[in-house]
Amino acid sequence: MPPNHVLIMGAGIGGPALALSLARQGIRATVFEIRPSPQQSGGSITLAANALSALSVCGGQEIYPKVKALGYVYERMGMNDDSGYFYGTLQVGDEKKDGFAAVRIMRTELHKLLLEECKARGVETLFGKKAKEIKQDSKGVNVEFEDGTQVNGDILIGADGIHSQARKHVLLDKAPIPEFSKTIVVNGFVPRSTVITPRPDYEFPATIISPSGFLGAFLVGPKGDKVAWGVNTTVTADKGREGWEEFKRSGEAARLAREDYANIKTEPIRSLLDNMDEKHVQLWVPFRLPILPAWSRGRVGLIGDAAHAMPPNGQGTAMAFEDAAFLGRLLGDEENWAKGPEAIFKHFEKIRAVRLDGVRKMSAKMGENLKKRSDPEGWGWWLKKWAIWAYISVWNRGTIKTNGFMGFDVAKLDAKVSAA
Ligand SMILES: Cc1cc2nc3c(=O)[nH]c(=O)nc-3n(C[C@H](O)[C@H](O)[C@H](O)COP(=O)(O)OP(=O)(O)OC[C@H]3O[C@@H](n4cnc5c(N)ncnc54)[C@H](O)[C@@H]3O)c2cc1C
Repeated sequence: MPPNHVLIMGAGIGGPALALSLARQGIRATVFEIRPSPQQSGGSITLAANALSALSVCGGQEIYPKVKALGYVYERMGMNDDSGYFYGTLQVGDEKKDGFAAVRIMRTELHKLLLEECKARGVETLFGKKAKEIKQDSKGVNVEFEDGTQVNGDILIGADGIHSQARKHVLLDKAPIPEFSKTIVVNGFVPRSTVITPRPDYEFPATIISPSGFLGAFLVGPKGDKVAWGVNTTVTADKGREGWEEFKRSGEAARLAREDYANIKTEPIRSLLDNMDEKHVQLWVPFRLPILPAWSRGRVGLIGDAAHAMPPNGQGTAMAFEDAAFLGRLLGDEENWAKGPEAIFKHFEKIRAVRLDGVRKMSAKMGENLKKRSDPEGWGWWLKKWAIWAYISVWNRGTIKTNGFMGFDVAKLDAKVSAA
């Protein structure tokens, strides 16, 4: 028999995805979330083919069309510089070949869909639940909440994000404190009709390489009638939750992004940044987490940002889905469960660590490039453009294929726990 009841801490991205996977296999899952209601912030995110195939493992093939209906569907992203010169494309999905394109979707819409799917499958999701104490013994896990209620389960999965409470239970005094990454991601939106392009055949989504860094411009909404832009910028000190809210609300975040690109006078950068509504930008404040000594202790395991926060470059959501899909398959297998939760958690960590190491390195490299500044008059900038041209246009013949990175299929991983 697989587990009877799985407790999941955190109703963000990975928690509901895992609950969905378990519910579809007939395993009871209860998700408890510290916030009083679902999160209402976060800009638009790209779900590349790897994220969508993992989500489909959790939610079934029927979830992919639902995600597509909410977002903008595409397979390639143009790579241009600030003069409008087109270098080639980055392939982020291939529906014909792999079954999945990529979808740009509002994080809040994705979240809402996940919670609706969970509800339809009978998953109980409890909001406003702050754990006071987590206890475990050889038979199960007990969580006592600050409101005086309790819940018992066979295992507990900490899907409670970067500032995870479950991680403290797993690692005790070895639990690291996440460190502010000194990078923030600012996202703004403008109507597509207000964006000026340097040439008639200029296409979105596009990455724009400029002396101020890389600016991403994505189409949002099923019709692509809005353009979402995103820039990574440097801020030296953490302002704290309230401080960042104020930074966003006051328009300071928008002004910082605009200031970074003040020297770029060309389109579409100018119309993207000049036409934004300063008070309605979205902010993501990523933190760094060192590689953990372990992702589990006894009957408590970690997934997603709680186990391995990614550098700020668009793979955090995908990694949470991949984790949920793989752990869901491992837990649903009777033979695995007979070996015990510790063996399952160890197998999960062993296999996932290899993939995460590769994605972490690739994301860190890309993240650095996103915000690297160059002197527009200097040799460095010309050299950089030449290197990009050589890499995309010559080495990759106009299309960078990210097969191993965004074409990864979690369904192909070995979901049998090997004998210890
Ligand atoms: C505002 C925002 C914007 C983002 N934008 C991007 C982006 O553009 N691209 C990208 O790749 N990634 C982005 N990310 C990161 C990405 O969303 C995460 O990597 C991904 O959500 C990880 O999923 P997760 O389930 O591990 O954690 P999360 O989705 O963060 O979910 C964790 C959940 O646990 C809850 N929680 C925390 N503590 C407790 C507790 N003690 N008890 C119960 N519940 C608890 C939290 O409230 C939250 O709902 C963004 C994150 C945020 C917050």
